[in-house]
Amino acid sequence: MSRQKSAGYFGWPIVFGLAWLACALVALDLTQGEDGIAAVWPPSGIFVAALLLFGPRRRRMTTLYVAAASMISNVWAGSGVLDSAGYTVANLAEGYLVFYLMGGNKASLTPLSRPLNTLRFAATAIVAGCFSGLMAGLLSGNMTYPFLSSWTSTVSLGMLVVTPVILFIAQDPQDQRALLSMRSLWTMMVVAILSVAAFGQADMPLLFLPVLGIAVATAIMGLSGAATAVTIIATIGSILTAFNAGPVTLFFSTTEEQVLFFQLYLVALLGSSMPLAYLLSEREHALARTAESAALLEAAERAAKVGHWRFQPGDNSARWSREALRICGFDESESPGFEQWLALIHPDDRDRVRAFVVEATSQALPFAFETRMVRGPGDIVHIDCRGQAEADSHGKVTALFGTMMDVTERAETMAQLEIARAKAEREAAEVRMLAETDALTGMPNRRCILANLAEAMDAHEFQGEPLTVAMVDIDHFKAINDEFGHEVGDTVLKQIAAILMDELRSDDSVGRMGGEEFLFVFPKRRADELDPRCDRIRERLAAEEWEHPMTVTLSIGVAELQPGLDERDLLRAADKALYEAKRAGRNRHTVHAA
Ligand code: GH3
Ligand code: MG
Ligand code: MG
Repeated sequence: MSRQKSAGYFGWPIVFGLAWLACALVALDLTQGEDGIAAVWPPSGIFVAALLLFGPRRRRMTTLYVAAASMISNVWAGSGVLDSAGYTVANLAEGYLVFYLMGGNKASLTPLSRPLNTLRFAATAIVAGCFSGLMAGLLSGNMTYPFLSSWTSTVSLGMLVVTPVILFIAQDPQDQRALLSMRSLWTMMVVAILSVAAFGQADMPLLFLPVLGIAVATAIMGLSGAATAVTIIATIGSILTAFNAGPVTLFFSTTEEQVLFFQLYLVALLGSSMPLAYLLSEREHALARTAESAALLEAAERAAKVGHWRFQPGDNSARWSREALRICGFDESESPGFEQWLALIHPDDRDRVRAFVVEATSQALPFAFETRMVRGPGDIVHIDCRGQAEADSHGKVTALFGTMMDVTERAETMAQLEIARAKAEREAAEVRMLAETDALTGMPNRRCILANLAEAMDAHEFQGEPLTVAMVDIDHFKAINDEFGHEVGDTVLKQIAAILMDELRSDDSVGRMGGEEFLFVFPKRRADELDPRCDRIRERLAAEEWEHPMTVTLSIGVAELQPGLDERDLLRAADKALYEAKRAGRNRHTVHAA
């Protein structure tokens, strides 16, 4: 790690320093150090690119190497040491001026990726070129027009032509891939051949050919293609022109005119490639933004288990988001139509869903429904579909658009809750039943029959209807127990309970009060209406077949509710009547005299 880091600090600055030196030597050799005959000064572009790309430490290292390269190349080209030092200061100053004018440490690393950044960079390069020229002129004491104009224009063009290419290659992995591909190699070969064709002969006016080259490179490789093509044309053009090979020397006799023409030609190339480059960069950004939004939407859909879809009733075609396809269990490469989706819907739900869709299509109203989809054997998902119809300007529905949410978990939880609720309800009913039932006879117990009585009392109070009770007690039951045993007594109790319950009519109720005593509650009945019922009960008892030869009879005390009596009074009256029945010889019923 640390070795890699130190290689980073020293490696790239050295590469930039050597590139600076090489370009400077070639440029100075080509021009033989004469003022006013170079068209482009590439080292300035190399230094600016390094400053914009590197952090503080690498920037310092690069500055040192470039200073050394500048001294070496200028002295080599024949300048005095003092003049070389002056040129070097100017070379370093111009680079830092661009760096600070582009925002210093916060300089956007993509000067060419946005139109405004590009304009700012172009203006900055020109300002820095002028500044550098003045400085070099002042420091070397050479304030002649040819020197100043040559220095200024070559430096500015060097930045405009070279910096973008280096930035493109360095910054964007996509650009790197594009620039280092075979396709780009061929494209650049074509640009180079067109440049040689334009500048390597003077017989035909072919200066338009490089423009075609730029167009081709831009179309194939985008922004970085345009920048690289300009650099290739500038390089080949200046070398061939410097060797007097091309058409420029034919039309312009003096070197100054040739250089001026060539520089204008380069500016025209840069200017003509810019509009297309702008559009391309904007399109690239828009595409990147769209891709980013799509990725975010997809991630959100995945997290929320919500997909979206669009269905065109006209041709039955449908479009699905990836999450919608996943929810439906379709393959991501599939593009199922609406009918294909409908076939997944649970057969019990299908007609309902179709009706929803037909209605939404005909009325253009928002809709929402829940349904089940069968993705495979035993693989059922519950989905919540919501949507809205899209209508054209005539109000005709052209498509349905909506969302689909996987609510299987919720549906399963709801189903479990429903099962738990039903179970709890069953259990509660069972408990209630147990609490209100006499265990031996299965008939209502004391608590339950007294509750019935209380209810009947309320009804009597509000509706003024009569209310009668009857207390029933088995005669000499103790003797049955004594003679045949307790179990036989129990059986007798059960048989009697069954007979009593069988004698119930409409609103009547009966319950075991305890021991061998039972209580009837007869709402809406008068005491005198009950004589036949009491007789019937005793008759049925007489006709009952018992397990053992025995006679079982019972006594009944009947009492009707009288004004001013409460529940307890009524029961006491019934008890009293029962006691009278016993005293009068049992096996009879007695009505309590009001
Ligand atoms: P009477 O005609 O005066 O009512 O005489 P009786 O013997 O029926 O009255 P008593 O109150 O003296 O006796 C009631 C008997 O009922 C006493 C008790 O052993 C019996 N008994 C009470 N509950 C049960 C029961 O659940 N099972 C059985 N086998 N016997 C019971
Ligand atoms: Mg008793
Ligand atoms: Mg008894």
